[in-house]
Amino acid sequence: MIHENNKPDTAMEPLDSYTEELLNKLTAPANTTRKPTPEELLQVEQLVKATEETNLTNPIIQLFAHLLELKDTGCSPQDFNIELAQLTHLAKRHQEIDEHMVSVGGRLTQALPIAGKANSRVAEYLAKKDTEAPSGIELWEQIEENTRRIKRGLKMSDEEWNSFHGQLRHAVDSVETLAQLIDLPADVLNSIARVTKTYRMRLTPYYTSLIMPGVLNDPIMLQSVPTGEMIDNAGIEIPPVAADHSPARLIDQFYPRVLTIKATNMCAMYCTHCLRLAHIGRKDKIYSKEAYNEALDYIRNNPQVRDVLITGGDAFLLPNSHLEWLLGELDSIDHIKTKRLGTRIPVTAPMRVDNELLDILETSNDKKPVRVVTQINTAQEITPVSLGSFRQLSKRTFTVLNQAVLLKGINDTRVKMWKLCETVHEAYVRPYYLFNCSYRNPQFKHFRVPLEVGRDLVESMYGNIVGDAIPRYIATAGGKIPLHRSNVVSHENGDIILRKPWSGEEVRYPDADPEVYSQEEFAFKLPK
Ligand SMILES: *Cc1c(COP(=O)(O)O)cnc(C)c1O
Ligand code: SF4
Repeated sequence: MIHENNKPDTAMEPLDSYTEELLNKLTAPANTTRKPTPEELLQVEQLVKATEETNLTNPIIQLFAHLLELKDTGCSPQDFNIELAQLTHLAKRHQEIDEHMVSVGGRLTQALPIAGKANSRVAEYLAKKDTEAPSGIELWEQIEENTRRIKRGLKMSDEEWNSFHGQLRHAVDSVETLAQLIDLPADVLNSIARVTKTYRMRLTPYYTSLIMPGVLNDPIMLQSVPTGEMIDNAGIEIPPVAADHSPARLIDQFYPRVLTIKATNMCAMYCTHCLRLAHIGRKDKIYSKEAYNEALDYIRNNPQVRDVLITGGDAFLLPNSHLEWLLGELDSIDHIKTKRLGTRIPVTAPMRVDNELLDILETSNDKKPVRVVTQINTAQEITPVSLGSFRQLSKRTFTVLNQAVLLKGINDTRVKMWKLCETVHEAYVRPYYLFNCSYRNPQFKHFRVPLEVGRDLVESMYGNIVGDAIPRYIATAGGKIPLHRSNVVSHENGDIILRKPWSGEEVRYPDADPEVYSQEEFAFKLPK
C-alpha cells in the first residue's frame, strides 16, 4: 500500500481482496438456514471471548475458521449476533497484530490450504520412512544385539571392537566366517563361495553388525557380500579410468583444476558395486615413496591444478603419519588451494576416526580447506557411532560430502532416497552427488537403475526436502555429466515458462532483456 501521508498506520490498512471475499462469503444470504444449537452458541461465544484481551492472531483465525464451517451447515455469523462491523474489526486487528500485516483472509483461505496441500506431498514418505528405510539409529537395538553375537563369534574383546586395527584384524573375509555370524541358506552360501574365488570379500565386523538377521535382501549385505550375479553377468569390463586419463603415476585427471591421487588400493570393506573393482581388492599394495613423489612432482609442475582429491581405495586406510605427510606436501604447494579425502571408513569402520586423525585433518584444514568425501547409500549406515565420527569430522574440517551410488533394491525408491538424504544431512554430511551406477562394469549390471528413474527421484526432492540435502545426479562417462531434467518448458516472447518439479505448476519467468544485456558496459551513474 502507498500511504499519502507516508506514515504507515496498520489500523488504517484496508482489507485485502482475500479478506473481502471471506467477509462476503460469511455474510452472504445462505441457501438453507437453520437455528444454531445451544452447544454451537456456547462454542462461538467462547471463541469470540478468546479473541478479546489477547495479542495473538490464532484465536481470530480459529473464530473465522469455525464461522466458515458453520456457514456451510446453514448458520451465519448473524445467527450468533456477530455483525459485519465486528468481523471487519477483528480482521483489521489480525493484520495489526501480525508483524507482516498478513490478513485473516490470506492466512485462512490461502496460506493454510496451500501449506496443507504441501503437507500431503510428504504424507506417504512420513508414513513409510521408518519402516521402508530405517536408519541405523532406529535399528540400534538390533545392531547392538548383532554386535554382541559377532563379538562372541569372532572372540573379539571390546577393546579390539573399538579399535580400527581390531576391526581390520577380524575382518570377515571367508564364507565360513560369514556363515558363522549370519544365518544364511545353503544355496546363498554356495553362491558366495563360488563368487569369492574371483572377487574379494571383506567386511569389518562393525559393518557386519549392521546386517539385519533374516533379511536376505538387506541393503548392507547387498553392498558388501558378493553374489553369483557378479560372475554370471556376461560382458567385458571397461576400466573407468585407464591409461588415457593418468598423466602421471597415481594420478587421474579429467579436469584442469582438480585431479585425484589414488593413494592406496586398499579399503576396509570391499563394495560389490565398486567402480574400481579392477584395481581394488585383489591384493593389498603398499605404494613406494617414489610413486608419491612422482605424483607430487606432477602437481607441482602443473600450476593450473588447485584442488587435489586423495582417494584410493580409501584414503583413511593410509596410516596417520602418511596422511600427515601427504597433506603437508600439498599444503606447501602454492597453487594448491583446497584438498579432499575420499573415504567410506566413517561408515564401514568409524572407530578409525580418532583424535590423532582429527588433529591431522584440523591442522591441514587450518592452512587450506579440507573436505571429506564419503559414500553412504542407505540410512541404515548412519548409526550413533558413524554419526559420532561425522560430527567430529564436520567440526574439524571444512565440510563432509556424500557421494551416493544409485543402486537397485538399495536406494531406488522415493522413500529410501529421501530418507537417505535427510538422515545423512542430520549426521552433519551434505548430499553432494548421486551417481547413476556405471555401465562399465558388467559385474554389477543387476544393480543398475534406469537413468530416468534416478532423475525422477532427485527431482522429487525439490520443494519437499531441504535444499542443501539434495544431491546432484551424475553419470560418470569420462568425467561427471549432470543429469538434471531441464525445468524449462518453453519460451514465449522473451519470457520463459518454468515448471515447478514438485507440483508440475508452470510459472512465467521474464528473462533478462537481451538488448540490455548486450550493451557493452554499465556503471552506476555518478553525480556530475
Ligand atoms: C570425481 C573426480 C574428480 C572430482 O570431481 P568434482 O566434480 O570436482 O567433485 C576429479 N578428478 C577425477 C579423475 C574424478 O574422478
Ligand atoms: S570404498 Fe570405494 S574404492 Fe573401496 S571398494 Fe567401496 S566403492 Fe570401491
